[in-house]
Amino acid sequence: MNPSTLIPPPAWVRRTEQYDTQALQALDSAHFIHPFTDHGDLATRGARVITRAEGVYIWDSEGEKLLDAMSGLWCVNVGYGRKELADAAYQQMMTLPFYNSFFQTTNVPAVKLAARLASLAPEVDGRSFQHVFYSSSGSESNDSNVRMVRRYWDLLGQPQRKVIISRLNAYHGSTMAGASLGGMSGMHAQGDLPIPKITHIGQPYFFENGLPGESEAEFGLRAAGWLEAKIVEVGADKVAAFIAEPIQGAGGVIIPPATYWPEIQRIVDKYNILLVSDEVICAFGRLGHWFAYEKFGYKPDLVTFAKAVTSGYIPLGGVMVGDRVAKVLIEKGGEFNHGYTYSGHPVACAVGLANLAIMEREQLPQRVRDDIGPYLARGFEKIAEHALVGVAETCGFTAGLVLVKNKKRRERFAEALGVGMMCRGHCFQNGLIMRAVGDRMIIAPPLTMTHDDIDEMLRLIRQALDLTQQELHQKGLI
Ligand SMILES: *Cc1c(COP(=O)(O)O)cnc(C)c1O
Repeated sequence: MNPSTLIPPPAWVRRTEQYDTQALQALDSAHFIHPFTDHGDLATRGARVITRAEGVYIWDSEGEKLLDAMSGLWCVNVGYGRKELADAAYQQMMTLPFYNSFFQTTNVPAVKLAARLASLAPEVDGRSFQHVFYSSSGSESNDSNVRMVRRYWDLLGQPQRKVIISRLNAYHGSTMAGASLGGMSGMHAQGDLPIPKITHIGQPYFFENGLPGESEAEFGLRAAGWLEAKIVEVGADKVAAFIAEPIQGAGGVIIPPATYWPEIQRIVDKYNILLVSDEVICAFGRLGHWFAYEKFGYKPDLVTFAKAVTSGYIPLGGVMVGDRVAKVLIEKGGEFNHGYTYSGHPVACAVGLANLAIMEREQLPQRVRDDIGPYLARGFEKIAEHALVGVAETCGFTAGLVLVKNKKRRERFAEALGVGMMCRGHCFQNGLIMRAVGDRMIIAPPLTMTHDDIDEMLRLIRQALDLTQQELHQKGLI
C-alpha cells in the first residue's frame, strides 16, 4: 500500500475528494480501535471516512454530503468551519502552547475562561458558581465530581456519606467512574461496574414507564419519588449526592415531565444531599440557556460541562463548582490531591473563549429559546403525525421520536428487529445524520441552523421514515 495516497491533497483539490477510501478503510481496520464499535462489523463494511465539514454539512472521502443533525456528537453548536476558532488556537499555540496549572502557576486563557463561565452561570437563591475545575472531557469531569463530592463530606466530618445515586439509562461518560455513574447495562457488564457505592434509580421516561391512566405530571412526581425511596433504602446519612442530566441525551433525548425537577429539588433539600447536574450536552445553548438548570429552575451544587464549551473544536471539559462545595473544598480543604496534566490547557481555553464569544455575539441560547427551538417544535408536531411515530418531542434544539409498530395501540417493535438502525441506515443513505437509540431516533443539530436548514432536515427525516415504513412493509413486519 502506497502511503502517499493517504496524504490529503491541498485544499483546492480536496473539493474533488481524491482520497483512496479503500486504502484508508483497510488501515483503519488494521490499526484503529474505535470507541463503541463492533470491529467484526467494521472490518466487513469499512468505516465511513469523514474528510471535511462546513456550516451544518459534513463530507466523506467519496464526496457524499451529509446534513449533520447530531452536531458531530452533541458538540458543534456553532457549526463547522469557524475560522475564529482556528485563529484562536493558532495564536495561542504560537504564544504559549502549553503550561501546567499545578504548583502555583496559571495561564491567561484559563483565568479568563473561568471568570467568563462564572459570569454566565446564573445564581439561584443566592447561591452562585464562582469556581471552575478543568479537565479535557465529560468523563474526566464526572470522575472529578466523584472525588469532590466524597472529599466534601470527608471535610465536613461525615465520611460515611459516600453513596452517589444516579439513574438507569443515564450517560455520564466512559471512564471507570463515568461509566459507573451512567446507567447503561451494556457498559456495566463489560467492566465489573459500577464501582462500589454508586447505585441507580429508574429514569423519568413517560412513554415507557407511565402507567395506564396516569398523567405525565403524576408520572413526573412518581419518578422523582424513586429518589426518596432509594435514599431511605440506602440510609439518608450515607448518601452523598444525586447526579443527573437535565434531559438524558445519549439515553435517547428523554425529556422529564415538568413536575420532575421541582420534586427532585425538594427531595435533595430534605435530605441535604449534593445535586450534580451533568450538562455536558444541555449547557451552552442546547436548551435555550447558557446552563440548563436555569431552564428547569433547580439548584445544583456541581455542574459538569464539556462538548459544546469549545463546540468540539478541541477537547475541554470541567466542573462548575458552586459556593456550597467551593467554600468547603477551598477554605477547609488544604491541598486537593487531584488534577490533570491538561487541566486549564491554554489552547483549549483560548478556543473556549472564542467559542463563547461567537455564541454571545450570535445570541445562540436566545435564538434557540425564541426562534429555532419553537420552529423545530412546530416541525416535530407534524412529524408526530407519521404512522410510524408513536411520540415525537423536542426540548430546545434537540428532539427525539419513537418508532412504533402500531400508532393507535402504541405498540412497539421487538428490540431484536433493530428498527432504529434500519431507519438510521435510510437517513445515512439519503444524506442525513440522525442517531438511533433503540427504537428512538434523535437529533441535536448545530444551533446555527437557518429555517431553510431545518425545513431540509425535516424533509429528510420524513423521507427516512417513509423509506423505513416501506422496508418494514416489504418484510411483512407491519
Ligand atoms: C458525552 C457525555 C459525557 C462524556 O463526555 P466525554 O467527553 O465523552 O468523556 C458525560 N456526560 C454526558 C451527559 C454526556 O453526554
